Amino acid sequence: FGGVVKEPPMHIVHVAVEMAPIAKVGGLGDVVTSLSRAVQDMNHNVDIILPKYDCLKYNNVKDLQFHKSYSWGGTEIKVWLGKVEGLSVYFLEPQNGLFWVGCIYGRANDAERFGFFCHAALEFLLQSGFHPDIIHCHDWSSAPVSWLFKEHYVHYGLSKARVVFTIHNLEFGANLIGKAMEYSDKATTVSPTYSQEVSRHPCVAPHLYKFHGILNGIDPDIWDPYNDKFIPISYTSENVVEGKRASKEVLQKKVGLKVADMPLVGIITRLTHQKGIHLIKHAIWRTLERNGQVVLLGSAPDPRIQNEFVHLANQLHSTHNDRARLCLTYDEPLSHLIYAGADFILVPSIFEPCGLTQLTAMRYGSIPTVRKTGGLYDTVFDVDHDKERAEANGLEPNGFNFDGADAPGVDYALDRALSAWYDGREWFNSLCKRVMEQDWSWNRPALDYLELYHAARK
Ligand code: ADP
Repeated sequence: FGGVVKEPPMHIVHVAVEMAPIAKVGGLGDVVTSLSRAVQDMNHNVDIILPKYDCLKYNNVKDLQFHKSYSWGGTEIKVWLGKVEGLSVYFLEPQNGLFWVGCIYGRANDAERFGFFCHAALEFLLQSGFHPDIIHCHDWSSAPVSWLFKEHYVHYGLSKARVVFTIHNLEFGANLIGKAMEYSDKATTVSPTYSQEVSRHPCVAPHLYKFHGILNGIDPDIWDPYNDKFIPISYTSENVVEGKRASKEVLQKKVGLKVADMPLVGIITRLTHQKGIHLIKHAIWRTLERNGQVVLLGSAPDPRIQNEFVHLANQLHSTHNDRARLCLTYDEPLSHLIYAGADFILVPSIFEPCGLTQLTAMRYGSIPTVRKTGGLYDTVFDVDHDKERAEANGLEPNGFNFDGADAPGVDYALDRALSAWYDGREWFNSLCKRVMEQDWSWNRPALDYLELYHAARK
């Protein structure tokens, strides 16, 4: 109590290519926004530098105004300043059109586009006379910040800054990630278990002395069943049964399933190998066999996988039209309704650095049913097997999990989950209440990041 030392506020600048909700592709976008908000709420100064994509969701940017312009890299770069979820965001708009291409990722020259952006971001900091304490960069896409800084900008007057690099997913751009691991002052990844899983990777192994696994959190204001315009009634853990019943009914109606009291399994995911596509397909059929309903919301960046699912959707919609719905698109409002209306959220990932969907599920009183890997292992504790492990984390068990990457594995978790719903509704309802009361916000992880930022400056 009396011994708490008040640290002066730090200035942290994130250089990132995704940011929820204006430019979100996956969890990286959520983390940039929600970590920044948590750190800002702890009275530090946070700024974000983002490309000014033509495809930004501009209706979520407040007070957007022209800030300045500068020349760099053979072009003029216009800088715009706006507020997103209460955060100051500097949008860089190079007039060479690198970000006027209708998408965030997916161009043949993505590495060049984001490399240019990273360089332009450091140039902006320098030319604006900013002296951040921490420059935080993320994944391969803003990895170049780390070496551009150490090779150039540290000598030009940004010398006070330290570079923190976070790996959200080691699958993509390993060369760039390896180089950023080398040049950054501190590096993190998004869960303790994933940090161990990747510890022998050649990009990571030489740098373990400065590498830390810090769990992601979710933003409790952005994901809040008590204050969510996409669900029919507000609820907390006190009226979770009523709240979820109303949401399930609206969800069933909205996607055209039979309105009935049946267990409903929700799946919200990018459809890629990482997410356990064969396990997802199996789980859909297994749920139907057990007389449940399934709503999948997902889209595949790979057109072949997207086609496979279109085919499966046609098949399911003809054989089980009242109980299975595959929505093969990206739909933020629908995701809220599924988190609220489902009984279970299934996450059978082959690997998962942290995973946010299981955390959001719990915030809405849905029971996570997951494969034991990465952050899924660190956050979901099986009601039958993980009592001790949960206790060691100061928690009670909160879901169902499985090992292996085959059909019997998924069945093992899914069957117990569905049986719990059929056989003991009162117990099941108390589990929903319990998971809602667990704290998966940034409260704790943000303190870990602050400690890391402080350590980087020593
Ligand atoms: P990843 O970053 O690997 O995609 P995460 O679980 O960390 O996985 O984050 C996924 C985020 O994207 C979650 O916030 C989830 O709700 C959201 N999401 C995934 N697919 C969709 C979709 N089709 N529609 C809406 N939101 C989605």
